[in-house]
Amino acid sequence: MPRNAQPSSAPIEELIIDVLRHRVGKDERAAKSHDWYTATVLTLRDKIIDRWMESTRRTYDAGSKRVYYLSLEFLIGRLLRDALNNMDLTQEMDRVLKENGLDLAVLEDLEPDAALGNGGLGRLAACFMESLASLDIPAYGYGIRYVNGMFRQRIDDGWQVELPETWLSHGNPWEFDRRESAYRIGFGGEVVASADGGVQWRPAEVIEASAVDTPVVGWRGKRVNTLRLWTAHALDPIRLDAFNAGDHVGALENEARAASLVRVLYPADSTPAGQELRLRQEFFFSSASIQDIVRRHVQYEKDIRTLPDKVAIQLNDTHPAVAVAELMRLLVDEHQLEFDEAWELTKKTVAYTNHTLLPEALESWPLPLFERLLPRHMQIVYAINSRVLREAGKAGLDGDAIAAISLIDEGGERRVRMANLAFAGAHSVNGVAALHTDLMKQTVFAHLHRLYPTRINNKTNGVTPRRWLMQCNPALTRVIRDAIGDAFLDDAEKLSDLNALAADPVLGERVAEVRRANKLALADYLKREMGLRLNPDALFDAQIKRIHEYKRQLLNLIEAVALYDQIRSHPERDWVPRVKIFAGKAAPSYHNAKLIIKLANDIARRINSDPSVGGLLKVVFVPNYNVSLAERIIPAADLSEQISTAGMEASGTGNMKFALNGALTIGTLDGANIEIMERVGADNIFIFGLTADEVAEKRANGYDPRAIIEGSPELAQAVHAIANGVFSPDDPARYRDLMEGLLNSDWFMLAADFDSYCAAQRKVDLLWQDQNMWRTKAIRNIANVGWFSSDRTIGEYARDIWGV
Ligand SMILES: *Cc1c(COP(=O)(O)O)cnc(C)c1O
Repeated sequence: MPRNAQPSSAPIEELIIDVLRHRVGKDERAAKSHDWYTATVLTLRDKIIDRWMESTRRTYDAGSKRVYYLSLEFLIGRLLRDALNNMDLTQEMDRVLKENGLDLAVLEDLEPDAALGNGGLGRLAACFMESLASLDIPAYGYGIRYVNGMFRQRIDDGWQVELPETWLSHGNPWEFDRRESAYRIGFGGEVVASADGGVQWRPAEVIEASAVDTPVVGWRGKRVNTLRLWTAHALDPIRLDAFNAGDHVGALENEARAASLVRVLYPADSTPAGQELRLRQEFFFSSASIQDIVRRHVQYEKDIRTLPDKVAIQLNDTHPAVAVAELMRLLVDEHQLEFDEAWELTKKTVAYTNHTLLPEALESWPLPLFERLLPRHMQIVYAINSRVLREAGKAGLDGDAIAAISLIDEGGERRVRMANLAFAGAHSVNGVAALHTDLMKQTVFAHLHRLYPTRINNKTNGVTPRRWLMQCNPALTRVIRDAIGDAFLDDAEKLSDLNALAADPVLGERVAEVRRANKLALADYLKREMGLRLNPDALFDAQIKRIHEYKRQLLNLIEAVALYDQIRSHPERDWVPRVKIFAGKAAPSYHNAKLIIKLANDIARRINSDPSVGGLLKVVFVPNYNVSLAERIIPAADLSEQISTAGMEASGTGNMKFALNGALTIGTLDGANIEIMERVGADNIFIFGLTADEVAEKRANGYDPRAIIEGSPELAQAVHAIANGVFSPDDPARYRDLMEGLLNSDWFMLAADFDSYCAAQRKVDLLWQDQNMWRTKAIRNIANVGWFSSDRTIGEYARDIWGV
């Protein structure tokens, strides 16, 4: 590719034409929108590169400690607006494009969503990368460059259909292929004695990991960090002897096998993917990342023993937990450290974030599989385990405690417990909301916590206000600036200056105008995409997140059915017009979640076409939830549904995005909802339902959902209507088992919370009738959730865990 003929300090109008001609290969007359999109990104990227190199140089010169964030998922979304805003080039680029007859907003829509993640965990990693750069912390994100990220969801006759997402089909102008940064990743084989008296792993199979880098620019262009995603190649991409002998497919087998490693993201959220390919992915990216980290450290610091002074490794959930064993292997087998010294260095370097308490979601691998794929790591896991269990014995822990602490699950088929490995190998183990961290101490890690009582700490999640306020809601951002000035742009907690104006009718009016415009824009979009007609003056009620039984979309749907009955029975009442918006993907193998999507669509079809509700209630299921869709829906929502069974949502971050944009929350005392309530005030949020303790108590002491359902006429009527096929006349039995599940066990306690949920919804309606009061509460939400900025979260990690 010819180099840019212009220095990057030249005016953008000159740069972009130069890029269009010399790097995209089109002149202005022939260029299509996509060419202009590519030229726009490359022009901006050139500007970013200068800062990138400067940031890297600064880090080397200062000898600063670096943070390495290992995550199997990065749910990035689009980058163009993010990068333009952070480089303060939006207006200039907008003007230059206009002069060429182009619309920046149209070009932005051409960027595919980088969806290398499932949901909250992956989005957190993306917000963290942005905040790390914004806080000027030297950091690398490490992950996998999946060719097919999260599947694209289509709704066919109400059912979810999964299609491959080909986000790379037009190339990716953001990335740099770093074929020179490549590492050998082994699998299988055997462990042999080495000449120096130690051991050496001789893998049976070796694949090459090579780096693909994307710059991540922070707010005001302060720093540019690197997101390094690994791709896979065969060492021997084509076997010429086989090819020449006529075996044209077999000759390429090695490359195909390597490519399959990075082909797909596992689309399961909150359930582990048990397949061998997944373990191979986990080791592939962990090993490449650890080798890269150790190589960089030794190159610049010379002394492996200073690793914890210069390197902080954060494991995002247990997916990279095998990095603990890989780091040990490099220290012991390659750098010849004593096991005990290596173990101390490892623990000082590594920290682990837990994301779930669901016991079925804790990763563990069958021991024979782990041993076959990673024989040396298996030995290291045993050696770590014997140290941990010895410490447990010395601490006087009993047999049950020792069985729970062991890295090997001995109950039934023996398995390697990745959470215990991560816990043992880390100096810090954090939860992601206060309640979640407390429950970690009481449940999954109760025994490990007794053994290592200072290790668990809390870091409540956050979201980046650049994407989740300034970019997705520029009009609201302007209104806030006019009201309280610019300080909140650099410190989201300064939004609290809005408190003094919460009851100001002028501000209330302006905030309401912005929301109405956002609702009109969303209604317009849904009309175009789905042919729907929505009333922008209705209350927009949104539940957008992964479809999972614990998140209880079903509770919301049953309430919709009950409301539908009520509206038909009492048309004379003063009903608040409401649009219930759902969006979310279900794991392809998760039967009930997919059935819930079908139910949402069946209910929508019935209610939306019933003239007797007179437009008072609409139900909408928007296909293909992703970051870009979230950015459209959140600024247009009046009400945010955060209704998980208490104790089951680790934190949630959707809840924070909505509140930051002035939606009121209806929610349970779960995850970060509790901390949102503490900050916005109990009067400015609709809390309902059982507490986590009450849920645990009911599960322990027996719970009779059938009695509750039959004792609540509205609930009984809705459940029986769904069970009997009122919403599925084409297949009346479709939802019978789903409803029988509620009547017979109801693990997620919908029945227990139903009446209090309905009561909270009627309080929502009542407040809606007083628009002035609603606006005041909306402003109080915006004013008091600046604390949920991921800048605050990252600041706490930096101070308490990483020491940077
Ligand atoms: C924020 C976000 C999530 C997480 O939402 P929760 O409501 O916290 O589960 C998931 N997916 C996308 C695309 C998001 O932007």
